[in-house]
Amino acid sequence: SPTIAIVGRPNVGKSTIFNRIAGERISIVEDTPGVTRDRIYTKGEWLNQEFNVIDTGGIDLSEEPFKDQIKHQAEIAIEEADVIIFVTSVREGVTEDDELVANILYKSNTPVVLAVNKADNPELRNDIFDFYTLGLGEPFPISGSHGIGLGDVLDEAAKHFPDKTYTQEDSMIYFSLIGRPNVGKSSLINAMLGENRVIVSEIEGTTREAVDTRFVSASGQEFTMIDTAGMRKRGKVYEKTEKYSVMRAMRAIERSDVVLMVLDAKEGIREQDKKVAGYAHEAGCAIILVVNKWDLLEKKTNTMRKFEEKVRNEFLYLDYAPIIFVSAKTTQRLQQLPDLIERVGLNQNLRVPSSVLNDVIMDAVAINPTPTDKGRRLKIFYATQVSVKPPTFVIFVNDENLMHFSYSRFLENQIRRSFEFEGTPIRIIPRKRK
Ligand code: GDP
Repeated sequence: SPTIAIVGRPNVGKSTIFNRIAGERISIVEDTPGVTRDRIYTKGEWLNQEFNVIDTGGIDLSEEPFKDQIKHQAEIAIEEADVIIFVTSVREGVTEDDELVANILYKSNTPVVLAVNKADNPELRNDIFDFYTLGLGEPFPISGSHGIGLGDVLDEAAKHFPDKTYTQEDSMIYFSLIGRPNVGKSSLINAMLGENRVIVSEIEGTTREAVDTRFVSASGQEFTMIDTAGMRKRGKVYEKTEKYSVMRAMRAIERSDVVLMVLDAKEGIREQDKKVAGYAHEAGCAIILVVNKWDLLEKKTNTMRKFEEKVRNEFLYLDYAPIIFVSAKTTQRLQQLPDLIERVGLNQNLRVPSSVLNDVIMDAVAINPTPTDKGRRLKIFYATQVSVKPPTFVIFVNDENLMHFSYSRFLENQIRRSFEFEGTPIRIIPRKRK
């Protein structure tokens, strides 16, 4: 989907506007335990059209001189977005910093919608006209805190959304490599592309960051490798910031069926790894844990088993994800990757027949009786798989509040033991039978 970036000097109200556009989504996802959300990247919806929103103000560039921060935020917006919402403030009027931002935006080809914030009361509205001097067209008065005028701004922004929608082909598997800088993503990509037959490289997608590559594996499966941009063209100062690289990873995750979470055998696991893996899990992507630079480890007995234990302990919720130890440098085990991606991609699309599923659930209940709460027992009537990517099961019950997390987890494990869901998250949704 198209991407909107919000830019503007500090304190003009970018975050308020971002939160308004994001609506309830942010608070919903933040409830998920173990996953902290960055408030810099989210989805919004306007007139039934989904889009992504980036708050460039949330990207921490505070180590840089003030003018550079403003400049880099504008550059990020130009690089990342299909449309830019440039936020200014009627209270302060047109400032020097606004002019600095306007000059950078003016030179790019990215369409800009000029929003003049804090126009809370009508007297201020006359001052809006001063903003024509920025040379970015009609200024739209808004009030982020009161939620006024945003609709007009989004209407205007939507006019500039690209027409092409990204159509995904069914048999194609879309995957991406995710991981901190220097874990070896680019090296792995080059090594993989070197071993497989590349059909098309650098397909331009709808969004400007997309530089995808298509290839066929020995087994004949077609793949589209989504470039976590910045791996091809790199070198900008802000690309080294953590939030920027997390944001880039999220955008790739959103388009991927399968995510290769790349870890560095030498450096171990960091918070950032867990964060992006958490996003992939929540997005319903199939996940493979790829431990790269395996050549750098001195192998003693059980080196691999011990490393796996460590990884498993750090990524408890990814117990379904296969783990593979590779080296981009020596190409060790790289030839196994396409088949592994294909396998978890198929598992993510698996549909199980309701009759078999219900047998599994009934057997599970027989082994481990449903929980009770204040004398009331959870009753399971019927289960059915409602979707794939990821496989999602609705379980009809007498009262969904009686389905505790631990019991849901138990049912998930029983389902996993009976069907081949390696590599893919599965979702279990209890629903009260009407
Ligand atoms: P990226 O930032 O994740 O794309 O990482 P790069 O692919 O640029 O790799 C970072 C550094 O690690 C480079 O110096 C690579 O040569 C090196 N590197 C990547 N993979 C391996 C590997 O499997 N073994 C060793 N020894 N070095 C590697």
